[in-house]
Amino acid sequence: MLSEAESKIPGPRDCEIDCIVMYGGGLTSYEAAKRAIERYGHESVEIWFADTRTEDEDLYRFNRDVEKILNHNIVVFSQGLDIWEIFHRERFLGNSRIDPCSKFLKRVPLRKALEKQYPNRGCVHCKEPWHRGGETIHVLDIDGTEIKEAICGSCNENDPGYANSLRALKDVIFEEGENSNRARIAILSVQNRVERCKFVRVVLGMDIIQDCDRLHRAKSYWRPFVNWFPLAEPPFGNKTRIIEELRAIGIKEPRLYGAGFAHNNCGGFCVKAGKGQMVHLLNTLPERYLEHERKELEFQEFIGSKVTILSETRNGEKRNLTLRDLRKRAEAGEEFRFNQGTACACLNPLSPEVDEIAW
Ligand code: SF4
Ligand SMILES: [Zn+2]
Repeated sequence: MLSEAESKIPGPRDCEIDCIVMYGGGLTSYEAAKRAIERYGHESVEIWFADTRTEDEDLYRFNRDVEKILNHNIVVFSQGLDIWEIFHRERFLGNSRIDPCSKFLKRVPLRKALEKQYPNRGCVHCKEPWHRGGETIHVLDIDGTEIKEAICGSCNENDPGYANSLRALKDVIFEEGENSNRARIAILSVQNRVERCKFVRVVLGMDIIQDCDRLHRAKSYWRPFVNWFPLAEPPFGNKTRIIEELRAIGIKEPRLYGAGFAHNNCGGFCVKAGKGQMVHLLNTLPERYLEHERKELEFQEFIGSKVTILSETRNGEKRNLTLRDLRKRAEAGEEFRFNQGTACACLNPLSPEVDEIAW
């Protein structure tokens, strides 16, 4: 939902926009791609898929079906490495807070490709180009990340509304500083005046109902690119409805949904998943679980330390928990709650600064 200040920003027209759909092989990103094509047309849309080489086999079948039903090619980014090869290369095992797998297999290559494809910036209002090193203004967001906006010099001279908003923002920053609520509100009216051009929308399949916090994080992460969240607009994203619509045209949803997983990433495995999802993987796809269990122990040998993906706190003490120990406890009858609502966060990391994004 746009705030009142945001909705007044003069945006580029639909015909000036390119959409890059960050497609993950699941239901919501399929729906996002479908809506992007419906709104902007085939010629303005690209569907980008980062392959972790750790995916479920059925994801590739689904991708082929999606290409057929959308009549649109999916562009694949593969680094030739799977998540375990990344952990070895980086000498770091992913966990719930730090995810080198999605950083190096998804975010960094996708981001680099965006920067390469859209190196130039321009004003959405007067169309004047904006050059690197041009004037910018900064405010700190509530989570400490920097909101840095490029300023259009031409509009500052010729558009009194924009010039007034800019002056008001500078006054607020002078009086209350960059890290103030008034500054965060005042910057909204000058935000997105200068964008990458041809103007780009980075399309993500998150919806506002489940993912309000994630939407905010995604926006911080992808700046200065502008996001579009089609599923945050009506009709709101609903996996059951998407499944029904797919089945009605003879397409089966990716099998992991039927097996009870919330998303179709990394074959039901994820370093950010909790114990519940891991045990669910053990119960539904035991061979796959055992393979990851083996690789975790192999990684410990390689690095010479008892690092683990999972950890738990008992009696106030944080301890590492291997996949092997978790399996033994599950096999002994211990129950672990699986919170299915945990959505994939590969493309909107918990700490945007982790990726050291250059502006
Ligand atoms: S789904 Fe999990 S394991 Fe796979 S790339 Fe994303 S963060 Fe890493
Ligand atoms: Zn301008």
